Amino acid sequence: MTTIALEFPPLEPRGGAYKRAAGSLGGHHYFTAVQCRPTFGGLGQHTTDTKMNVEDFRKNGKEMIDYICDYVGGISERRVTPAVEPGYLRPLLPSTAPLKPESWSDIMADVEEKIMPGVTHWQHPRFHAYFPSGNSFPSILGDMLSDAIGCIGFSWAASPACTELETIVLDWLGQAIGLPKEFLAFSEGSKGGGVIQTCASECVLVSMLAAREQAILKLKQDNPNGTDGELLNTLVAYCSKEAHSCVEKAAKICMVKLRILDPDNQCSLRGNTVRDAMHADMESGLTPFFMSTTLGSTSCCSFDNLVEIGPVCSDLDVWMHVDSAYAGNAFICEEFKPLMRGIEHASSFNTNPNKWLLTNFDCSTMWVRDRFKLTQALVVDPLYLQHNYSAQSIDYRHWGVPLSRRFRALKLWFVLRSYGIDGLQRYIRNHCTLAKRFEQLVLKDSRFEVANDVKMGLVCFRLKGEDKLTQELLAKINISGQLHMIPSLVNNRYIIRFCVTAEHATENDIDFAWSVVSDMAAEILSDPNNRQRRQSLLKRRLSFVRSVSRDVFQRSNSRSSLYDGCSPVIILDENDLEIKEDVFTFAPMKEELNEEIKSK
Ligand code: PLP
Repeated sequence: MTTIALEFPPLEPRGGAYKRAAGSLGGHHYFTAVQCRPTFGGLGQHTTDTKMNVEDFRKNGKEMIDYICDYVGGISERRVTPAVEPGYLRPLLPSTAPLKPESWSDIMADVEEKIMPGVTHWQHPRFHAYFPSGNSFPSILGDMLSDAIGCIGFSWAASPACTELETIVLDWLGQAIGLPKEFLAFSEGSKGGGVIQTCASECVLVSMLAAREQAILKLKQDNPNGTDGELLNTLVAYCSKEAHSCVEKAAKICMVKLRILDPDNQCSLRGNTVRDAMHADMESGLTPFFMSTTLGSTSCCSFDNLVEIGPVCSDLDVWMHVDSAYAGNAFICEEFKPLMRGIEHASSFNTNPNKWLLTNFDCSTMWVRDRFKLTQALVVDPLYLQHNYSAQSIDYRHWGVPLSRRFRALKLWFVLRSYGIDGLQRYIRNHCTLAKRFEQLVLKDSRFEVANDVKMGLVCFRLKGEDKLTQELLAKINISGQLHMIPSLVNNRYIIRFCVTAEHATENDIDFAWSVVSDMAAEILSDPNNRQRRQSLLKRRLSFVRSVSRDVFQRSNSRSSLYDGCSPVIILDENDLEIKEDVFTFAPMKEELNEEIKSK
């Protein structure tokens, strides 16, 4: 064993007793400072005038755990969505921050009295909107520890465990999902590896940035005199109409063209469509460089056909990204792995454990086949961030946009160890079984139809007939606070998305949800023209979803071609002239809406 002599600054700051340890790990030498019971100081010693010392923290922390346990234990007693109007909080809080410290009990009293009434309870067993927001006790505890460590892991040296655990845990998860071994950091001869990003949008953006860099480098070989701007102008990215709007956003940021392609009637993008579009673009002098595919689309959980699209991308040297933000988590179950067929053609893949793997936001896992291609687009290396181990270690600051990064691998590690792959598979399978139960209930009722092929935890359904009926039904359900769901479009029809989200969802929750849907449908169908009731409902809907008038909806819908269930649109009745200040409404839309009202 060789010990490297490193110069360390003195380790005994004011009375602490420390020793140094040296060793060797897998051929790499390490030299660490180990703190042995500081004799004073630690969190209990104030260096600033904080209000909470270590003993306060111990006590308040335990109270907070009690509060959380009571919250979680009693969550089903609460309304799913809050009964508040936009702007409810402002009059309840002072308009400036307190000058003097306030007591813990005062702060906590305000949590219950002022904050909780405005919370939408995403962990509620009757929350069926969007996709699940990952959450579990092991994950919360892992995040607490990460917050306490409070390191910023931009490089290996900035906190070695932060980097190394991330690489290891991403290999664990990548193996469990069944990703090709080229994506795993520790497989023989691998150039790939995994990284945790903040969100799926960031994974898509970072992949597009990497693809753009490779495309420009390649174009420069043939056009050494072409400027970056000229070459950029020729680049085209592709996605399906079913892709998430983050692809559109990424293309905007990357300043490249985006071609949005029509999927088939199963909402699946097919190889021929991609091939024809790319060849047509090449004939016009453009360069296809990036294909964003989706496994588990936001609106209806459809799956693009990677078996067909992959070879097209390989032939044309196009970077194929696979966005599997929600559904990718289910690939830890053998029976879902066939839905990933064609993955061997992918350059990058992402899934979000913070959606469907019991891990709190933020934790979006992303793998690349070639990490050098990824970092080539993102490396900037100022002297003050360099360190002696750069050659042997990963510096995750080169794998994404931010420099600073939290110790997010801890919570995922806690989750994987606490549940085991087996426990996580049971969780996923329970959701899928319950979704099938809901689907059966819908199918048995001749007033309704199911609009998607239910493969995982999402059922898209609608009342037969005009879209207006389904809009009314959803509005009525959301305003009741008994359930929460959001709409989307499938094959141009307005549908309601019912997603199983709670960790411990049961058959009773599903049956309850169906009874609410069924009863409210009966009321709507028996009184479709009750305009008075509709108008009072319309006003309160503004709090929960982006809201526009029927006209604006139709116009905005034709402007945006992506069917992205995350930007739900509830339609105000055209005769409802009272538009309140709505902090959630997208400003230009609101102006447009107000203009429209003024002109009436
Ligand atoms: N991609 C898909 C398929 C999604 O379903 C979503 C959100 O639901 C996203 C991307 C965006 O996710 P994020 O909020 O993590 O950026």
